[in-house]
Amino acid sequence: MVEDPTVIARREGDDLVVICPHCGEKHRHGAGGGYGHRIAHCSGRGTPAGRGYFLTEA
Ligand SMILES: [Zn+2]
Repeated sequence: MVEDPTVIARREGDDLVVICPHCGEKHRHGAGGGYGHRIAHCSGRGTPAGRGYFLTEA
C-alpha cells in the first residue's frame, strides 16, 4: 500500500484548493467534507488512478 502525501489546503469560498502533489495542477474539493483524505482529480498524464492526498489546514 502506498502512502498518500499530506498537502496544505487553502480555503476559497466553499472550496478547499490544493496544488496537487501528483500532477502539479490545482484541484478543488468541497469544503463541506472538511479536511482529511481525498482522491485526486487529476486529468491523467501518468498519475496513478485512485491516488490522493490528505488535506490539512494551513
Ligand atoms: Zn492532480
